[in-house]
Amino acid sequence: MITDFLVIGAGIAGASIASRLSEFGRVVLLEREERPGYHTTGRSAAFFTVNYGNQVIRSLTAASRQFFSNPPDGFTNHPLMSPRGILTIARADQFSEYEKNLAGARAVSDDIAEIGIDDAVQLFPTLRRDYVSLAHYEPGLYMDVDQIHGGYLRQMTAHGGTLVCDAEARSIEYVGGVWNVGTPAGVYEAPILINAAGAWADEIASLAGVDPVGLNPMRRTVIIFAGPAGVNLDKAPMVIDVEEKFYFKPEAGKILASPADETPSPPCDVQPDELDIAVTVERVELATNMVIGRIDHKWAGLRSFVADRTPVVGFDPGHEGFFWLVGQGGYGIMTSPAMAHAATALATKQSWPEDLAKNGVCPEKLSPLRPALLKRNEK
Ligand SMILES: Cc1cc2nc3c(=O)[nH]c(=O)nc-3n(C[C@H](O)[C@H](O)[C@H](O)COP(=O)(O)OP(=O)(O)OC[C@H]3O[C@@H](n4cnc5c(N)ncnc54)[C@H](O)[C@@H]3O)c2cc1C
Repeated sequence: MITDFLVIGAGIAGASIASRLSEFGRVVLLEREERPGYHTTGRSAAFFTVNYGNQVIRSLTAASRQFFSNPPDGFTNHPLMSPRGILTIARADQFSEYEKNLAGARAVSDDIAEIGIDDAVQLFPTLRRDYVSLAHYEPGLYMDVDQIHGGYLRQMTAHGGTLVCDAEARSIEYVGGVWNVGTPAGVYEAPILINAAGAWADEIASLAGVDPVGLNPMRRTVIIFAGPAGVNLDKAPMVIDVEEKFYFKPEAGKILASPADETPSPPCDVQPDELDIAVTVERVELATNMVIGRIDHKWAGLRSFVADRTPVVGFDPGHEGFFWLVGQGGYGIMTSPAMAHAATALATKQSWPEDLAKNGVCPEKLSPLRPALLKRNEK
């Protein structure tokens, strides 16, 4: 089947760019699994904050906010975000990290309030007074990831695009100005191939004869357990350690917690490690009065980074029509509107969108040719 754009990977990256590109031509979105969103996209913590990641990430997040609060017609009937505070806590020995974190937070938001221990404990009633010494609060947001991902896919279909599941890209060749992708569901062809394969993106590049960008998939663990009996935490904020050694938040009547681990892993259907689960329990029990008995659910997902922890977006310099949309790390949901907008402008060779420029996002910072990816570009 011949089309204008072939996208590999139907996580948030592939779905979001497919939704935008379908306004410019025919799109086929290829997904290896039997359903889209099975890997990292379906395993996130779903929070939105401009106070996270490096400066480029913060700019991309800020540029995405408007889309989530006011999505295009037909995207969804549900709100994509709901207000939920984020409480950053520090022990006395974390004073200097706290000061740094507070300065960084204030640089991107006017809404950061330093609060006392009484207020912190009132916001999250099981916090231990003898653990927390410093705290600041920001009015953060939770995202509805299913609605966001589903909305992108609906938009793509409404514009005539096609999602093909059980379609693992197994061979990729460039012949006569066209990329040919062999899958169990058939052969697909297009002059432009978008690599949005998450943790597998460097494997896709190798399959296509393109140099990898040096992607490092990192495992992150999550557990869900019942909250303390008789304490209503439904409206409580997410609590995050100032050095991001753990976080926890109310989740549909229970508590979701993570040790915020970053363990290198090959791309795979990653599963949680018992040691990381034990570390999560230990850190949460140290900071709170919660006693974690049974763990109701546990999972892990791969957050994939390149050397400078900034996504890679743009055409490969050495291979006509091969386009990168990878390295979203721990920010891929909240930055997806801006990333898809940026990627579409570059893939269709349009001028750079004004709202991205206004928010400080420029193509050079995302480029596969940038100095931070030097080793690759020296070849
Ligand atoms: C525990 C955890 C918490 C997180 N919390 C947040 C958060 O609070 N906020 C936030 O914004 N982000 C968060 N993230 C990060 C976010 O989830 C990721 O950045 C994002 O989901 C990456 O999306 P993706 O589309 O690049 O990857 P994926 O969702 O992994 O999609 C890639 C797809 O490519 C497919 N694929 C691979 N190889 C092939 C092939 N050969 N042929 C066809 N298809 C192929 C895969 O099957 C997969 O479906 C979190 C991540 C984790 C793990």
